[in-house]
Amino acid sequence: MTLAPATPVPVDPAAGGAVETFDSLDPANGQVLASYPVQSAEEVRAAVARARSAEAWWLAQGWDGRRTHLRAWKGVLARRIHELADLVHRENGKPHADAVLEIVLAIDHIEWAAKKAPKVLGPRRVPSGLMAANQAASLEYQPLGVIGVIGPWNYPVFTPMGSLAYALAAGNAVVFKPSEYTPGVGKWLEHAWQMAVPQGPDVLQVVTGLGATGAALCHAGVDKIAFTGSAATGRKVMAACAEHLTPVLMECGGKDAMIVDDDADVAAAADAALWGSMSNAGQTCIGIERVYATDKVYDRFLQELEARVKDVRPGSDAGASYGPITMPGQVDIIRRHIADAVERGGRAVTGGMIDGPFVEPTVLVDVPEDSDAVQEETFGPTITVTRVRDAEEALTLTNTTTYGLAGSIFTGKARRGVELARRVRSGMTSVNSVIAFASVPSLPFGGVGDSGFGRIHGEDGLKEFTRAKAITRQRFELPTPLTTFARNPGLTDQLAKVIGLVHGRR
Ligand code: NAD
Repeated sequence: MTLAPATPVPVDPAAGGAVETFDSLDPANGQVLASYPVQSAEEVRAAVARARSAEAWWLAQGWDGRRTHLRAWKGVLARRIHELADLVHRENGKPHADAVLEIVLAIDHIEWAAKKAPKVLGPRRVPSGLMAANQAASLEYQPLGVIGVIGPWNYPVFTPMGSLAYALAAGNAVVFKPSEYTPGVGKWLEHAWQMAVPQGPDVLQVVTGLGATGAALCHAGVDKIAFTGSAATGRKVMAACAEHLTPVLMECGGKDAMIVDDDADVAAAADAALWGSMSNAGQTCIGIERVYATDKVYDRFLQELEARVKDVRPGSDAGASYGPITMPGQVDIIRRHIADAVERGGRAVTGGMIDGPFVEPTVLVDVPEDSDAVQEETFGPTITVTRVRDAEEALTLTNTTTYGLAGSIFTGKARRGVELARRVRSGMTSVNSVIAFASVPSLPFGGVGDSGFGRIHGEDGLKEFTRAKAITRQRFELPTPLTTFARNPGLTDQLAKVIGLVHGRR
């Protein structure tokens, strides 16, 4: 038995189903894979109400119970990894092997979140300080309640998992609206949950639909929205959530750069730039879209890149390096960015050809810094390579876009790499590799500027779905209490003197 329908699903209005449906398409050939209901605002509210009812049961499971259930869910993903990877391949277009890799990383995150949640979020004593020496102070992180997760299609398992697993591990119920391009993957994850946790099916629910269904989730009374998608949609989500003072987590796009320094391993940098820019057809929020190579290594870097790019090709057969562009509308954006770069004096040293949804790997050089190909998210298998004087100039140019998600630095000196990494205006940077931070569950993931705010993954990712709760317990009464109208009038002066001695000496 498979967990997701492979053929179109008839939706029967007489049986109370939604009348309106949308199709999930194979991006390689446009064939309909299945149909899903466009769920109404009423249906979304009903899902949130069910999640609200399930919340108490989920909380009552305690840390151990939740860990057991999350591990059971993880087990279904692990045992059926090829079935899920097939579905990801069909809906998103990426090669099966890349889909497996994505799911492996997602599984690792489920385990990390489930295992670490008690230690990171559970009650702990904190020092009470001089002024409250008679108090025992404790801190704990409580779940928010019901989290609405709105996801994209480019990593339909890994990306939402950064919110789903962490929100669930923190004790929340979740209503997830997957992208309209990958609804089957969302439903598969929901079915896997129901199979693993039959006692709590409403703890994780999926609602399907287009943008309006996502907007309905923002208005459905959830306690937080975790949004992953474009900055443009992110703004709409924030505006909708502002009406209810619903907090938001924004994981938006990027225009990440790689800096290749004088003493870098140029071959390794070229290899990493190629994977970072072309894998998943360049549809990676943390993909490399720009390279700044110093004058000393520029020519060698380009040679190495050109030599490697020859072996990379799009397709949907087993031997293809990457798949089609998932969202048909994105092809026009990629075409526009390439054309604009070339019109403005740039040159495509490889690629540039687009055949339906398949875009050849395209390496662009001499592209002006203020062109769209350098400033805007292209989200295709393209990369600009720019010659710079030194790593300092590279850093300045790296930091000029409005985005700030991630990036990479190749250098021969590890310490110098880390020092440069600190100065990149982004949430994450890898030294001498690409996107390595995404595979370290204990590292937070998120951006700055138009790339968003808030963090998934790691301790910060767990805390993102909680509120800090502070508790003091009076251990004994002070002989001279301060917080009473019956306070000794001379006490204020004594207190001021003590504070002067302790804090006022300089
Ligand atoms: P998108 O913004 O078009 O859609 C994202 C989701 O928002 C979809 O589920 C969509 O149905 C929903 N949506 C659309 N209109 C809405 C509205 N008015 N209210 C609420 N929800 C609405 O993005 P996409 O094309 O699916 O994803 C690609 C983008 O996501 C890229 O910019 C990419 O860089 C970014 N991304 C970011 C990260 C990250 O972690 N920072 C990860 C993956 C993708």
